[in-house]
Amino acid sequence: MDVLTVPPVTHAQARVDLAAVRHNVSLLAEHAGGAELMAVVKADGYGHGAVPVARTCVAAGAARIGTALVTEAIALRDAGITAPILAWIFTPGERPDEALRRDIELSAGALWAIDEIAAAARRTGRTAKVHLKVDTGMSRAGATLDDWPALLQHALAVQAEGSIEITGIWSHLACADTPENPVNERQLAVFDQALRIADKAGVSSGVIRHIANSAATLTLPAARYDMVRPGIAIYGLSPAPRHGDFGLRPAMTLVARLSSVKRVAAGAGVSYGHTYVAERATTLGIVPLGYADGIMRAGSNRLEVLAAGRRRRIAGRVCMDQFAIDLGDDPAEPGDEVILFGPGDHGEPTCQEWADQLGTITYEIVTKIGGRVPRIHIGGR
Ligand SMILES: *Cc1c(COP(=O)(O)O)cnc(C)c1O
Repeated sequence: MDVLTVPPVTHAQARVDLAAVRHNVSLLAEHAGGAELMAVVKADGYGHGAVPVARTCVAAGAARIGTALVTEAIALRDAGITAPILAWIFTPGERPDEALRRDIELSAGALWAIDEIAAAARRTGRTAKVHLKVDTGMSRAGATLDDWPALLQHALAVQAEGSIEITGIWSHLACADTPENPVNERQLAVFDQALRIADKAGVSSGVIRHIANSAATLTLPAARYDMVRPGIAIYGLSPAPRHGDFGLRPAMTLVARLSSVKRVAAGAGVSYGHTYVAERATTLGIVPLGYADGIMRAGSNRLEVLAAGRRRRIAGRVCMDQFAIDLGDDPAEPGDEVILFGPGDHGEPTCQEWADQLGTITYEIVTKIGGRVPRIHIGGR
């Protein structure tokens, strides 16, 4: 990584290290064994920038790209991503024509979805590539085992007309972040049963079978099948923190520059509600990021950042656009860089530490970093 290529921080930036993404993809590919890797870049690449991340993952060996929404998949295609893309959320009334014209694969877990996709195929003259979704116990999208034979029959009938091609059968695990949970084995058993039913119904053996998210890719070899679908681990965040970091490297460093530094007298109340009061005369630094940028208000008087060489707790309430830190008598100037979280290399908190402090998961923190924070990609090739 060439430091000189890093654009200067204006008020703040989310620095995304694509070399870390490459490292994580290689590590996941090792865990995947012979299974293909689908890099999940929904929600703007978990807040990291979907297009540069997708490009990096494909260059690092990911065979496919996964998104939640059809619109996300379309944006990737229009940005020049040529790898196969699957979008798995499909809502009634959605017109998948644009997706089919861009060779985007879709998921169907109900009869109406097959019908809507087939109608779009007829309108566009394309054959829709469809992954049939079975609900093995997550109780989110997909056909339950009871409804599965009817879904298969319908899909096969529509396939015979040439409107769709069944290219995958898939499901999603509810408890993969606790590998010891017996629910995982139960879901895999239901998945195997669904695959046997599909085989008997005459679905060709060439379909891609997939169920594993990051946690399953790293901890449940039996869940690999033909393809794995890691998301969070690509970004270097552990999908099962109680089981360690798996050698993943966090890609995002969130930095900002102090917008104000000033002395205040003992007894000064800080920010809304004066929930922090300076015990003695001190220096306050203002960080120009707030809850509108994804710095959760629950982090008031709780989260730490690295500023002027030390960890400092957020002082007082997080506002919409800024928060304060108490610098004591340490020297600091407006424009000094503050690291909110990162890989931890410089003593800064990690996203995992923030998640633990907030009682949430890292997924929520990185996906909430707002649109006002520029994403700067470094370590690209
Ligand atoms: C988000 C998502 C993934 C990736 O999950 P991670 O826990 O981030 O690895 C995989 N599959 C589906 C269906 C998802 O919604």
